[in-house]
Parts: sequence; structure tokens; C-alpha cells
Amino acid sequence: MIQRIDLRGRTLSRRELTDALPRAEVRVEDAAERVAPIIAQVREHGAATLRDLAERFDGVRPEHLRVPTAALADALEGLDPDVRAGLEEAIRRVRAVHAAQRPAEHTVELADGARVRQRWVPVRRVGLYVPGGLAVYPSTVVMNAVAAQEAGVAELVVTSPPQRENAGLPHPTVLAACALLGVDEVYAVGGAQAVAMLAYGARGTEPQDGGVLCEPVDVVTGPGNVYVAAAKRLVRGVVGIDAEAGPTEIAVLADDTADADHVAADLVSQAEHDPMAAAVLVTPSEALADAVEDRVAVRAGATKHAERVAEALAGSQSAIVLVDDVEQGLEVVDAYGAEHLELQTADASVLADRVRSAGAIFVGPYAPVSLGDYMAGSNHVLPTGGAAHSSSGLGVHSFVRAVHVVEYSRDALGELADRIVAVADAEDLPAHGEAVRARFETTATDGGHA
Ligand code: NAD
Repeated sequence: MIQRIDLRGRTLSRRELTDALPRAEVRVEDAAERVAPIIAQVREHGAATLRDLAERFDGVRPEHLRVPTAALADALEGLDPDVRAGLEEAIRRVRAVHAAQRPAEHTVELADGARVRQRWVPVRRVGLYVPGGLAVYPSTVVMNAVAAQEAGVAELVVTSPPQRENAGLPHPTVLAACALLGVDEVYAVGGAQAVAMLAYGARGTEPQDGGVLCEPVDVVTGPGNVYVAAAKRLVRGVVGIDAEAGPTEIAVLADDTADADHVAADLVSQAEHDPMAAAVLVTPSEALADAVEDRVAVRAGATKHAERVAEALAGSQSAIVLVDDVEQGLEVVDAYGAEHLELQTADASVLADRVRSAGAIFVGPYAPVSLGDYMAGSNHVLPTGGAAHSSSGLGVHSFVRAVHVVEYSRDALGELADRIVAVADAEDLPAHGEAVRARFETTATDGGHA
């Protein structure tokens, strides 16, 4: 059911290797054409349009676009105690890891009276998208909100699609997770319309919406389907965004020491997200490949979302890739740049430090991706589709900006004046040099004001 790609005995350039590897075909451009009118509609008409779009795409017309505070409290009250304990554990661990990510301010003294300080300033208001189509993601609330909170963001907004089964409010577990985290500005809005609302804000149209339903945010983060990704692409510039999340993916680099059933379980668990999800095993061991394939067949047939899993595993984005040895395997997973990379090899810890491109690396037999999805403490919002070559997963850094603070005394500036003038003249920007000289010259109009 899962295709094989045999790279043994082949020497490929990086480009050829990338082309030989499977990847989901996601046409964000096509989705962008479809969602551009939705974004324009939300900018122009606000809340009324949000209700119409919910009816069209989510099959329900929410009475309350902004979730009432009482509904958040009720959701927390009704939360299964075991789920609550799990979410609390996740919050504790994710918070501990993200608290340690806060960048330190530093000051560099370049000369007497000349210093540059780097401050890290959190953005003021962020919008966190929590998907709500195929599955329910309270864990995504945790990953987004804790990172923003630890960055020091003052205003957090969560938005998630309205559910027919919850009277047009987002899923109760998502609401309960918001309540647990103290997030009380929550909207029942999904898809591209949610991203537009966050980027541009939205006027209210019903008495329960108030005059302004939602103020614009500075940054929009969070995963979603292709329409959410396309909307994020279209509003980038108006607001900051994290990476455009495509369908989720796992790559497992495994040798003979790996347990075939555990590898199979991890491939199936990733395929469960989405028919477009990618599951890739890279191995030098044909025996392991055969055993994993057998175990995948058994597990995929028996799992709850068997149809979705079968589609993802049979898709052109999933494969078992045979390589000569772990060294070639390392080249392959580096070229792939997986969102999640598992290393199930003899020397996994050593190998982990040699990997250059992956959203997150899971080392050894007891660090499955499912651990990272919920409560390893790491963040599960990670770059997909090869974006790991150039970007990082979500973290405190996604919500802070670096601001240089420049402090020079008169003497310290005087030391540099001639050099600044020389470079400014070379750029044919003499007024730049004059702005420096002016501080050291007495002019006719100088009335003695310092
Ligand atoms: P979603 O909330 O992203 O999308 C649902 C919304 O899509 C609907 O509210 C609707 O507005 C919009 N939509 C549906 N059909 C449309 C159409 N034809 N035109 C315009 N808009 C349309 O939920 P989903 O669909 O379940 O997708 C969630 C995705 O997020 C999955 O791919 C999942 O793998 C991914 N995910 C990733 C991570 C991560 O960390 N990378 C975490 C959780 C989920």
C-alpha cells in the first residue's frame, strides 16, 4: 500500500535527491484565488459576512461569534478530569521549555560613551488559529497560547471554526483549553474568514457583537488547512505570520535496531491527521522495511480513522525509501527537511546533532512524535513542506521583535564624525554627513539652544 523508492547505489546531487523524494502537492496558489474574495468580503462587511460564511463552510450560523465568558467557564466545568489533567501536564511542560526560550537583553560597549543595547519587545496582540475541521486540537491552543504568554504578549485572541454539534460555538475541549490558559477572547470563526478577521478586525452587526466585534492583531499564528495557509499568505505584510503550515509529515530514519511495530505505529499516527499527511520511512534495512510494511497494514486496517490513514499512506507523498546506509539516510532526511523527524538508529543521539533540517527531532525508541504532539514540552507547530530548511517551529521568538537602542555621547559621536561624512558622501547622501557635523558647528541661527 505504501510505495517504495530505492536509492541504493545511486549518487544523487541535492537537487536530484529532493526531486526523488515524495512530497504532498499542495496548491496554495489555487486556494488563494478562492479565498481572496472571502478576505475582501470580511474587510467590507464584518460580522454579517462571518455568519454567512460559517453557514456555507461549517454548516451552522453562530449566534455568538465572540464566545460568551459563561460558555468558556461551562466548557471547563464539563471537561473530563483525565483530559484536564493531561492538558495541565502539557501546559506545565510546554511552559517550562518556552520560559527558557526568552531571549536575554544584551548591551555592547563599543567605546567610551558608545553603546548599543538589544531589547526584545513582545508584540501587543496576537491571533491564534486553532483548526476545527477534521479533528479537535486543544493541544494546539496550548502550543500557541503558552508560547505567546511566555513571550509576554498582552492580548491573546483564539479563533476556531463553529461546530454544528456545539450550537455554533467551537469544540468544547478547545474552549476548555482556552479557559485553562486564561484566554477569554475567543471567536467561533474558522478558515480564511478567521484569518481576515484577525488581520483587519471586524465590525459587529448584531447587538450581541457590540460595535466592534474584533480589533486587528499584530501577528497571526497557528496551523490549518490549505485555505487557512492561503489566507495567511494573502494577509502577510498587513500582519506578521508564522510559517504557512501545510499537511503534516513524519520521516523516520531507522536501522535494524528499530522495532518495526513501533515505527509502523508512528507512521500510522501521523497519517491519521489528514488524507494529505505524509509518512516516510528511510532505512538501509530491507528486512525492517518489509516488517514495517506488514505492521502498517495490520495497524492501518484496525485503526479508527482507517480510511483517512489508508489514503495518506497510499498517497504519492508517503514512501519507504531504501538507502545504502545510515550516512546516506542522513543525507536523505536532510534533503527532505521533515516537520517531524524520528531517529530510531543505534547511535540516534549522535546523529541528532548532525541533522541540519527538521522541524523537530525525536531521538531514540521512547520519543515518538505523539509525545511531542502533546506533552514533551517542545512545540508542535512546526514547519512543513521543506520549510524547515529556512524556518523554525513556533516559539517565544515568533512573538518578539529585536529593537536596537543606540546611545552615544557627544565625544563618542565626534570620534566617528569624519568617517560617517566620508561614507555618506560616497553614497551621495551629503545631508546625512551634515546631520552629524551640525552637532559640532555653531551656525548663524544657533541661538544657544543645546
Ligand atoms: P481547519 O480549521 O484548518 O479548516 C476548516 C475551515 O476551512 C472551515 O471552517 C472553512 O472555513 C474552511 N474551508 C473548508 N472548505 C473550504 C472551501 N472549499 N473554501 C474555502 N474555505 C473552506 O481544519 P482542517 O480542515 O481539519 O485542517 C486542519 C489542518 O491542520 C490539518 O491539515 C492538520 O494536519 C493541520 N494541523 C497541523 C498542526 C501542526 O502543528 N502542524 C497541528 C494541528 C493541525
